[in-house]
Amino acid sequence: MPPEPPIEIPAGLAEAYALLAAARHVPIAGGTDLMVRITGEIGEPPERLLDVSRIPELEGISLEAGALVLGARTTYSEIRRSALIREHLPALVEAAATIGAAQIQNRGTLGGNIANASPAGDSLPVLLATDAEIVVGSARGERTVAAAEFFPAYRQTALAPDELILRVRLPLPAGREVRFRKVGTRRAQAISKVVVAVSWRGHGGTAGWSDVRVALGSVAATPIRATATEAVLEGAHPTPEVADRAAETLAAELRPIDDVRSTAEYRRAVAARVLHRILRDAGGW
Ligand SMILES: Cc1cc2nc3c(=O)[nH]c(=O)nc-3n(C[C@H](O)[C@H](O)[C@H](O)COP(=O)(O)OP(=O)(O)OC[C@H]3O[C@@H](n4cnc5c(N)ncnc54)[C@H](O)[C@@H]3O)c2cc1C
Repeated sequence: MPPEPPIEIPAGLAEAYALLAAARHVPIAGGTDLMVRITGEIGEPPERLLDVSRIPELEGISLEAGALVLGARTTYSEIRRSALIREHLPALVEAAATIGAAQIQNRGTLGGNIANASPAGDSLPVLLATDAEIVVGSARGERTVAAAEFFPAYRQTALAPDELILRVRLPLPAGREVRFRKVGTRRAQAISKVVVAVSWRGHGGTAGWSDVRVALGSVAATPIRATATEAVLEGAHPTPEVADRAAETLAAELRPIDDVRSTAEYRRAVAARVLHRILRDAGGW
């Protein structure tokens, strides 16, 4: 086991930025991903850590200009307890409830899930399906990156080494519905085999769905949007015929891999069934 890396506890954001700019500090929030890396058994262990868990600018859950805004260090337990999130984005509460178990939900943060960039990160399909924006900052200032642009390749992010994730902005357009499903081996402490988040705006009457998003985790090298499937659903109603076509399109569109948790064939079949079920529930048939 390598020696424990030194850890800096900055007084505030400015000091955190200065430390990140001066030397390669690795941020640590809840530590639920990072502490697994500290032994050096999976990849290079971090040389020095920067504790971001007490920086006030990374805290808080609020409603601002038609969007939910969550500080990066918001834990899953805080998401589960938030009346604001429950009211405006219950799918995120559902996703938080599936992560690890109570201990992990008390420590693990939304910012950590995003920066860790696992294709199995359970919050990430919800961020993609809701057109979330990730606000990052450094001594050079702040910038906003769309969730759809944040995960360019396996375990990579749009973050520069001196940048921190500050907060996540989740727009709340009128009339939007969001659904979340996770399929794992069991109800707690299970890394997902397939995660699906679907969103749409329904207008009633003859007008079909608009702004459809179908986002998935654990079926590719990064969390992804299934754009061919979205095209089938855009402008349509969730009828049995549309659900069949969308599920077939999704199965054809996905290119999952075989790994220790599941086979590609299982992931493709289950993702299609989960989508079909979501559409059946939405259609009420
Ligand atoms: C037993 C167990 C079960 C788990 N179950 C699940 C599960 O079901 N679903 C799931 O998705 N995940 C699961 N995880 C993984 C983990 O709990 C989550 O990814 C969690 O959200 C990580 O957050 P954290 O605050 O602990 O991150 P940390 O471990 O503190 O950090 C993770 C990464 O993010 C970086 N980072 C953290 N905060 C910031 C920031 N503000 N800006 C920039 N970089 C930052 C760190 O440098 C590091 O690279 C599990 C982990 C364990 C150990």
